[in-house]
Amino acid sequence: MKRLIIISNRLPITVQRKEGQLTFQESVGGLAKGLASFYKTHDSFWIGWPGVAREKIKRTEKKTVIETLKRKKCYPVFLSQRHVELYYNGFCNRTIWPLFHYFTEFTEYSDNYWEAYKKVNELFAKAVLEIANEDDVIWIHDYHLMLLPGLLRKRLKNNPMGFFLHIPFPSFEVFRLLPWRNEIIQGLLGADLIGFHTYDYVRHFLSSAHRIGGYEHSYGQIYVDTRLVKVDAFPMGIDFEKFYNSSLEKSVQREIKRIRNKTHNRKIVLSVDRLDYTKGIIRRLETFDYFLDKNPAYKDKVTLILVAVPTRTKIDQYRVIKKQLEELVGKINGKHSALGWVPIWYLYRSLPFKTLAALYNIADVCLVTPLRDGMNLVAKEYVASKRDGKGVLILSEMAGAAKELAEAIIVNPNNREEITEALKKALNMKEREQKKRTKKMQERIRRYNVSRWAKDFIEKLHFIKETQLKLKENRLNKDVEERMLSHYKRSRNRLLLLDYDGTLVPFKERPELARPDKKILNLLRNLTEDERNEVIIVSGRDKHTLEKWFFRLDINLIAEHGGWIKPRGEEWKTLEPFKTDWKEEIRKILEKYVDSTPGSFIEEKEFSLAWHYRKVDYELGLVRARELKDDIFHIVANSDIEILEGHKVIEIKNAGINKGRAVLNWLNSNSWDFILAIGDDWTDEDIFEILPEEAYSIKVGWAPSKAKYYVDDYREIRKLLFEMEELNNETP
Ligand code: UDP
Repeated sequence: MKRLIIISNRLPITVQRKEGQLTFQESVGGLAKGLASFYKTHDSFWIGWPGVAREKIKRTEKKTVIETLKRKKCYPVFLSQRHVELYYNGFCNRTIWPLFHYFTEFTEYSDNYWEAYKKVNELFAKAVLEIANEDDVIWIHDYHLMLLPGLLRKRLKNNPMGFFLHIPFPSFEVFRLLPWRNEIIQGLLGADLIGFHTYDYVRHFLSSAHRIGGYEHSYGQIYVDTRLVKVDAFPMGIDFEKFYNSSLEKSVQREIKRIRNKTHNRKIVLSVDRLDYTKGIIRRLETFDYFLDKNPAYKDKVTLILVAVPTRTKIDQYRVIKKQLEELVGKINGKHSALGWVPIWYLYRSLPFKTLAALYNIADVCLVTPLRDGMNLVAKEYVASKRDGKGVLILSEMAGAAKELAEAIIVNPNNREEITEALKKALNMKEREQKKRTKKMQERIRRYNVSRWAKDFIEKLHFIKETQLKLKENRLNKDVEERMLSHYKRSRNRLLLLDYDGTLVPFKERPELARPDKKILNLLRNLTEDERNEVIIVSGRDKHTLEKWFFRLDINLIAEHGGWIKPRGEEWKTLEPFKTDWKEEIRKILEKYVDSTPGSFIEEKEFSLAWHYRKVDYELGLVRARELKDDIFHIVANSDIEILEGHKVIEIKNAGINKGRAVLNWLNSNSWDFILAIGDDWTDEDIFEILPEEAYSIKVGWAPSKAKYYVDDYREIRKLLFEMEELNNETP
């Protein structure tokens, strides 16, 4: 098995100085805990910051730290106090964290933070390069290291490299606010697989990559130069069995008893979060206050246990929210308490597992209402802990987990009325209903637990790597090119099938700008003048345009994807008489789409109507194209017309017309000893499909194709054809 290198800001082991001595403790936090089991069962190595500033470790101790960590399969990146301040407290938690959680008003844009972020990512890159072998699998985690994939890719060209973001990826409108948005996109695209918790985040990333970097995607795949990058959703799971079995543990049972003694028969509503402004804790408390105001009957019957785990205490907003929270708890308790009953129990600390598990077990309701949350593991842990199925989860729709936990009571965290109703509903829900919902959610989170999540991610990463290698093998390389040219030179009967747009000339936003230049016309002339060659331009363009451009050449032309054919020296003809009476109805629909989609236009050809959206805003174009296909689907069904989807064009044409059919006669008309077909579009696949085994076929661009070989763009095709032209001159 290949070695797996996991890289995250923090190591799963934290080094601290306590009373002068260095201590090594397991780190708290979702990632370290979540991956711990996976990482122990694999041949893995973890690279990260050990949690203590470089200055706090004496020179003489450094070696011991490294050795001790090495025994636990960890490798430290030492950061100075200054770096921790500017990179971690600065760029990570004062810039990216608030921005990616839609707290734009808290986001600080500081060049110093950015410089430190770059520097620390470089330090991480250096550390990885010190220990990585060329076949190690690399898995980078989270928003602290978004430049790392790009930095590593420069040196580790072939290693499978994945990146997973544990927080939301915001919509483009928010992401674009970041002055260093381009660098972040480029950095992330160094990975082969980029994972997010939900499809929404995937969509947001793809949209930003397109708008900022110009990267187009299809089915979550992006080509970065010639490297295929996959973007996908992997909702992170938990260690399900650990929570499900927690109530069987003696220590947890003792804790349950201890807490029950204090809560008596009251219903327990539980709230557990790091004390972070994204978690919506203040709003939650205000709502609880409102709930008690509106439903006094619940007084003395319900207790809210509020666990707030200290976090990022050096950052102002976190200090402010702590103060606000404490004042609010005081106010609500002061307002509603009665003798022997305090509505809110407030715990500001990190709890040991046995206490947390006991609380999950006891709580009748878990109230999880973040304003924004990448996933939220607390929600999953609560559900998993309910061995008997009793308990109700109220969950914010703004948490990634809401996508999987649909049987929870889903609420808008800003909607006081809705949460109040949800609380009432939860506190009164019949046990049967509670169990039914819980069991459904448990099935899902048991199946997709943290190990499965990690396994899934790594498997997908290997799959992408294999796909990349296959594509690479099919790249038109020097050897194949030489073989092809020597074959060309030897042959006496050659058939050259050439698409036009995107193959001989670049694909243009305005099609009228793609007329052939002098060079390409000369090249085609020379190729056609060699009597061993039969050259055919196989285009989707209308016949008038092709005629206008190529009338001086003795060349074969195919227009409208095979609707019209003009063998050289002859007139235009059709393969068979096609009907066009369907056009009127379709044209009306297309006109509607032109009106509602700025930049789109209709091209009318004899046997087809094409709706082009190459100038349309990228996403609007995709949406409208899908709608249009839906709209005309029922007209096309059971008729002899069909929809053809090309590069930024939807074309409706007579069925039976396609480029493959149009070249068939030529293919069969002679015993060719050299056949070459080149194209860049879906419509060219019909040709690639019918070619004999020995033919050469080349796809321009990196999308799935039946062609044997790939090249990057039209320039390589021109170069190849120029070389063929040279050979013509050499051998009269
Ligand atoms: N947690 C903890 N100690 C506590 C309370 C919670 O270790 O006192 C853990 C909890 O079990 C969960 C994690 O902290 O695994 C919180 O993860 P979540 O995704 O809910 O939020 P995050 O803190 O990552 O934003």
